Amino acid sequence: MTRISTDILISGGGVAGLTAAALFGTEGYSVICVDPAPPVTEETAEGADLRSTAFLQPSLAVLKAAGLWDRLAPFATDLQVMRIVDAGGKIPSPRITRDFNATDVSDLPFGWNLPNWLLRREMVRRLEGLPNVDFRPGTATAAVLTRDTEALVDLSDGTKVSAQLLIGADGRNSPVRESLGIGVRTMRYGQKALAFAVTHPEPHGNVSTEIHRSGGPFTLVPLPDRDGRPCSAIVWMERGPEVLRLAALPEAEFNAEMTARSGAIYGPLRLETRRTVWPIISQVAHRMSGERTALIAEAAHVMPPIGAQGLNMSLADLRVLLDLCRAAPNRIGEEPMLDLYHRRRHPEVLARVTGIDILNRASMQSAQPLRDLRAAGVASLYALKPVRRTLMRLGMGARG
Ligand SMILES: Cc1cc2nc3c(=O)[nH]c(=O)nc-3n(C[C@H](O)[C@H](O)[C@H](O)COP(=O)(O)OP(=O)(O)OC[C@H]3O[C@@H](n4cnc5c(N)ncnc54)[C@H](O)[C@@H]3O)c2cc1C
Repeated sequence: MTRISTDILISGGGVAGLTAAALFGTEGYSVICVDPAPPVTEETAEGADLRSTAFLQPSLAVLKAAGLWDRLAPFATDLQVMRIVDAGGKIPSPRITRDFNATDVSDLPFGWNLPNWLLRREMVRRLEGLPNVDFRPGTATAAVLTRDTEALVDLSDGTKVSAQLLIGADGRNSPVRESLGIGVRTMRYGQKALAFAVTHPEPHGNVSTEIHRSGGPFTLVPLPDRDGRPCSAIVWMERGPEVLRLAALPEAEFNAEMTARSGAIYGPLRLETRRTVWPIISQVAHRMSGERTALIAEAAHVMPPIGAQGLNMSLADLRVLLDLCRAAPNRIGEEPMLDLYHRRRHPEVLARVTGIDILNRASMQSAQPLRDLRAAGVASLYALKPVRRTLMRLGMGARG
């Protein structure tokens, strides 16, 4: 059977892979993007991704270069303030609250929040308008063989592809990464996350709030009003068995428990969507590139959802890859380019995964003295203005 040639083959059409396809398609490269699971593009459909993504400032340039931002902006909610609340005392009400306001470091909001199912819908529509992008939902990467001059990829529909550059965007168990024999370091916490949307009587005021008590953070991120009621996306992290108990609770009891866990900061919370459960790990690939291959997003790095780092780091991977492609457009996928990609991204990824790992372990503490220590730490870091500003810039994606 003859092989078809393409500049770039993207294995994986999750949010990261779809963004990569739009980005390199807009740049003029021929792109094939494959994923065995067709994207679910409606909130109420079975399998819909009910998480939301807070895109931080540096991600905006990537979304614009991919021709995506104009489509997404009408649905985005500004994030103006990041609020850290410690509710680690004897009772679950807030005892320390600190606001990080974007106006301290920028004229723009920190970021913009969008539901993941809606991201997929708009990304797929964008790809439909790019004749040089061949998106194949329902098709998987079946086998990968690389050599100096090309990546040879067999797809599950029988197609054989020769690509100058193979991008592994196929998730935390990346088949591309495994084919290349690139190992990972994984850290487990015995923790899961519940992700869902709620409405509440009090307005969120474009404040994203992370509440720490034990088991992991409880995070409320602003969404547009729903049927005239203020609305937020919630990620609630706890030990695994506790998450499974919460996920199975009757709705009225669940509403009562999550309102208590939120410290009732917005009044009684009302569940508006299904509850979805996500396993929580940290993981870093030993290398971010191999022969003719770049690993991006969860294929390269996974971390607990704290400080909205995950997908923003994936877009940082894409920003670096795009710069390297622009520097040598006819030499994409060659060894010097991919070595440089690894060297530019890997130290930054290691630093961020380590930082989020420490924050997550601090948030999980159940012993009272350690919770008190955590609260004191938040208060003293916040009190130092230069430290506070540096933390804000780092949190938004500035390089350390
Ligand atoms: C609860 C939660 C909340 C989060 N909130 C945020 C946030 O606010 N901000 C943020 O920046 N990040 C956030 N993240 C992280 C973010 O969601 C992830 O980084 C992102 O969704 C990962 O995208 P991905 O495309 O790498 O992986 P995935 O979404 O897992 O996509 C991988 C794709 O690869 C496909 N695939 C598998 N096998 C094959 C194969 N053989 N061939 C081809 N394709 C294949 C799969 O079907 C899948 O569609 C959150 C994460 C969690 C768990």
